[in-house]
Amino acid sequence: MQNKSKIKQLVKNNCASYLGDKHGFSNYCCWKDGSCVFFDNENPLPSCRYFENGVLPTDEKLEREYMLERNMHVERQIAKPKVNCKKCGTTFEANSNRQHYCGKCDENNKKDKAKLRMRKMRRKQA
Ligand SMILES: [Zn+2]
Repeated sequence: MQNKSKIKQLVKNNCASYLGDKHGFSNYCCWKDGSCVFFDNENPLPSCRYFENGVLPTDEKLEREYMLERNMHVERQIAKPKVNCKKCGTTFEANSNRQHYCGKCDENNKKDKAKLRMRKMRRKQA
């Protein structure tokens, strides 16, 4: 793995779980409660979820290399804000800040609005 030294550097500099030499471990990781996987030379393709989610995204180029090496999805999902639907309370991932209703309720709202519009039109005509 050619980017291993870059990853180690990133871990050392940015990983909140990486504590260096501690508790009798070298490269101690408090998340794993053991040595950081990226400093294990036996492991050709180490991976760490904490690192992938919290540290790796700070270096886009390295992230791409890392993902490719592991056949992971290269396109990182953009973290969507989690919102509670104003109508039914379901938690859903909003596509925009203006989205306040889950897919189902959003559809129902549209139908309601269409109905309202029809009603108003009819009232005007009457
Ligand atoms: Zn809803």
